[in-house]
Amino acid sequence: MIPTESIKKWATAVGFDLCGIAPADPLPQAEQAFRAWIARGAQGPLDYLTRHTEKRFHAARLDDQARTVIVCAVSYKSPISAGYPPEHRAKIASYACNRDYHITIKEMLHQLLQTIREHYPTVTGRAFVDAVPLAEKSYAVAAGLGWIGRNSLLITPQYGTFVHLGELVISDVVDTYDQPFTESRCGSCRACIDHCPTGAIGGERMIDARRCIACRTIERADSSDEIDLDGWIFGCDSCQHACPYNQHAPLHRNSAFDPLVDPRRMTVEEWLSLDEEQFQARFGTTPMTRAGLQRIQASITKP
Ligand code: SF4
Ligand code: SF4
Repeated sequence: MIPTESIKKWATAVGFDLCGIAPADPLPQAEQAFRAWIARGAQGPLDYLTRHTEKRFHAARLDDQARTVIVCAVSYKSPISAGYPPEHRAKIASYACNRDYHITIKEMLHQLLQTIREHYPTVTGRAFVDAVPLAEKSYAVAAGLGWIGRNSLLITPQYGTFVHLGELVISDVVDTYDQPFTESRCGSCRACIDHCPTGAIGGERMIDARRCIACRTIERADSSDEIDLDGWIFGCDSCQHACPYNQHAPLHRNSAFDPLVDPRRMTVEEWLSLDEEQFQARFGTTPMTRAGLQRIQASITKP
């Protein structure tokens, strides 16, 4: 049995802002809501989400050794997270201006696992970052980190929504599990719904991926229904800009999440003039490579 406080101290030491710990138990309510969302077809082109649902909401099914899910969060809020002037037509989601978080957070999780194993050598574990097999936002709620807002994102009281999550599923129990975050603090607020440029945010704290700009500019295109991308060319932060919990959240403190580029200074013309070599040189370590230059340029609509 591992002391919870030791894990939290080690998580802070490797650079996470928050750490919550939940048993690797099933999350039937979250699974039911997710299955209803899939039944409506709202996942759109994200058809990989329809697979392995029975594992995503039950960590012990991912790995029969799994006893505990350690959910870590780190803020990436930067000045770019505050948004763009209304006339800007080449907007990039702020997380995408950093080194690819999948890599950075995997490294941090592996450091955390290594530290745990230095003290408890028999413990085994697996690290997950934004990975299909684990319902990370639901486990974050179960681990007490925050609630799922109407914009479908995890809202942490301390850092708002500009956080990345990473999970370690380990083979031992801890001395005290965190209490789930049972309340929603959205109250009567509907700011994200009102500010979503495409009306992608419905009820039940889920979005319609078919209408979501973040999905349209990054994932496989679904050409059946054209939507106005509102000047976004990779991702979309509009529902995060609107959220009052982000207004007073502090900027990130972990320098691994310092922006590498500032798209507020880049014009449409500059984006359109980039060739592949220049794109790789400037943006090759960022998540923008997921869409690639051609896709980003295709998302540009001239004013
Ligand atoms: S990311 Fe943009 S398009 Fe998607 S739900 Fe949020 S505001 Fe709407
Ligand atoms: S903008 Fe308001 S309703 Fe939307 S997630 Fe934030 S607090 Fe909840």
